Amino acid sequence: MQRGILIILSGFSGSGKGTIVSKLMEEYDQYTVSVSATTRSPREGEQEGVHYFFKTTEDFEKLIRKGAFLEYACYVGNYYGTPEGPVEELLAQGRDVILEIEYQGAVQVRSKRSDVVSIFVTPPSIEELERRLAERGTESEEVIRARLERAVEESQHMDEYDYILINDDLDVCTRQLHELVCAQHAKAVLQKEFISQIQEELKDKMHRRNA
Ligand code: 5GP
Repeated sequence: MQRGILIILSGFSGSGKGTIVSKLMEEYDQYTVSVSATTRSPREGEQEGVHYFFKTTEDFEKLIRKGAFLEYACYVGNYYGTPEGPVEELLAQGRDVILEIEYQGAVQVRSKRSDVVSIFVTPPSIEELERRLAERGTESEEVIRARLERAVEESQHMDEYDYILINDDLDVCTRQLHELVCAQHAKAVLQKEFISQIQEELKDKMHRRNA
């Protein structure tokens, strides 16, 4: 069985990456989304252990010291981090694991591992981004402003990703994301076991024909 692929999915707040991930999970059953820990307060409808593990700053810092995170970062005044253990287990089971994380986390994961594909999701325009942020209705004007400011910073790192995904049409974008992951699975470096098997079988075949 091939190991799963680690998929880093970043994008501006309001890029629609959450919706893309939900759609991806609905359409294909090979994916699992890693549940992060955070110190930010739950939004309406968010559930412990489903959307995030909600932590106090003290508990989060304890987990940092224990080395529990594959990566962690500070985003608009709060900690966010990926617990490493579950990610490892899922990859070993052959699941493709999605990390919905921002760019500082993406840098850390890429520097630690090679089995990663990193994708940055963006709306087709900044007008559209602002509209989606305002439409969400869960955030104050001040938070929207902070998130737009953060988007300015994140845009400086877009070219560090393997792929840019423009979220204009949800169905198209979801399919494109799935195709990128399929292409990653087909990479020769990830097919070492299969390549060895073919090589062995061929040698064996020639050996028997020549006998
Ligand atoms: P939100 O508060 O909107 O749920 O998330 C804010 C930002 O934090 C988003 O860009 C999201 O992708 C990112 N984020 C969520 N979980 C993690 C994590 O575990 N690590 C890092 N580095 N970023 C995360």
